[in-house]
Amino acid sequence: MAYTVGFSSTDVLIPICAILMTFEKLRLTLENLAMRDSLTGVLTRRALFEFGEGEIAGCRRRGASLSVLMLDLDHFKEINDNYGHHVGDSVIRDFAERTQSLLRKPFLLARYGGEEFVAVLPETGAADAVLIAERIRSSISFNPELPRCHVSIGVATNSVAGNESLTVLIQKADQGLYQAKQRGRNRIEVN
Ligand code: GH3
Ligand code: MG
Ligand code: MG
Repeated sequence: MAYTVGFSSTDVLIPICAILMTFEKLRLTLENLAMRDSLTGVLTRRALFEFGEGEIAGCRRRGASLSVLMLDLDHFKEINDNYGHHVGDSVIRDFAERTQSLLRKPFLLARYGGEEFVAVLPETGAADAVLIAERIRSSISFNPELPRCHVSIGVATNSVAGNESLTVLIQKADQGLYQAKQRGRNRIEVN
């Protein structure tokens, strides 16, 4: 009885607040885990669509250009075969890190599949997108600590009056990537 009477509202509220804050931290951690690829820390495919469609809608409203890059490491299977899966993982991680460091906000970078990445570049026309793609392409060739690996890149840009979804722009960039592979790899093709 004495114990109950001696209980103040602060005694009850402080632990409740602490529990709520712990839950909120946990929720944010889980949200971040769902958004970030576990190997590279860049966006997951799901997060790319969540944020990318918003960027496309914003550019459409402003009448601005937006470009998409589809990037795929060349002959990556050979790296796994020759150096092992663990080194292959390091190459993917290194590529993601370098590419991310070349993309300023609000550019988005996501791991789209195994050794495939997609970048969404709001407020960026085709010519600038090619310059950015070239910076990425030339930056990956020389890491002395890892086996040499190149990247092929397809570029697609929205049409100013058009209504392309992210899915459509990715498909167009993927066709550019296909051409880059066909024409010898380690190169950029605009579609
Ligand atoms: P291309 O130039 O035509 O793209 O040839 P490629 O060898 O890169 O393409 P392919 O699709 O034949 O092989 C992709 C390889 O990527 C096969 C797969 O085992 C490997 N891979 C996919 N995800 C991972 C990963 O997370 N880690 C590692 N180490 N390898 C991966
Ligand atoms: Mg590949
Ligand atoms: Mg591939």
